[in-house]
Amino acid sequence: MPAFFWSVRTQGIWPGAGCNNEACLFYSGDQVVNVKLTFLGTGDAGCVPVYGCDCPACSRANIISDHRRRHASLLLESNGSKLLVDAGQWDLADRFPAGSLSNILLTDCRIECVQGLFQLRNGRNISIDVVTAGDLTGFGDLVENPGILNFTKVAKPFKSFVLGDISVMPVSLKPSGDALGYVFTNQKSKFAYIVNTDALPQSSIDYLASIGLDLLLAGCSSRKSRAREEVVETADYLTAIRELHGRVRPSKTILTHISHDFDAFLMTSESASLPPDIEVAHDRMSLVV
Ligand SMILES: [Zn+2]
Repeated sequence: MPAFFWSVRTQGIWPGAGCNNEACLFYSGDQVVNVKLTFLGTGDAGCVPVYGCDCPACSRANIISDHRRRHASLLLESNGSKLLVDAGQWDLADRFPAGSLSNILLTDCRIECVQGLFQLRNGRNISIDVVTAGDLTGFGDLVENPGILNFTKVAKPFKSFVLGDISVMPVSLKPSGDALGYVFTNQKSKFAYIVNTDALPQSSIDYLASIGLDLLLAGCSSRKSRAREEVVETADYLTAIRELHGRVRPSKTILTHISHDFDAFLMTSESASLPPDIEVAHDRMSLVV
């Protein structure tokens, strides 16, 4: 059985300074036996609110900041090490004091996964290892002039490696393209972060179903949008997520990489209800597995 101890909304990088909530007190103890996950962002490329959009989801997010979604990104903390999965946030240097970030792992070569590296590379006196999911030579001079970034390797499907005390297994997401999902395993838990689920090969689904996942973190934004057609498509995509959850059979699925269309659908459609073992993530959501 998975060890889900809590799922809490925090106001910054956890543990919060001076915070007395249950999660922070646990993490400040002598022994860390599990992996702490924090969603730094849960949005798709357009984020929420989309600039200039007045749909129900964007209108809500413009008023209530808790409903904003920044670019999807995940932080894994285990035994004092911090692994950042995707670097789409612009303020990584503010979020992570020098020396606090152990490794960066990229799931894709799209700009929303890479753009935060341009600020970090200008640092001094430290180095940060970066594992990519493909060729980054298209991003200006990032690879030629990496600064403090050390591009250690390009992950390959089903060629595992270790970062800190976490074993990482890359998983193919689609027949071609520079994008990967990852299965993370440590002594206590096994969970997968699959940002793009819309073209998951059968071989990858079979693999995920065979390893007994405690937790599946699944991207669920619809690729197309606009007007009435997108509502139907979003409903179909939610159905596809339910089917994927049924085929992989994790103890729990948490949805991320969420578009404003998807949020609007969840707000307005009676068919958008989710079963208890599928949950929608929000920015700064944390849990321990
Ligand atoms: Zn919108």
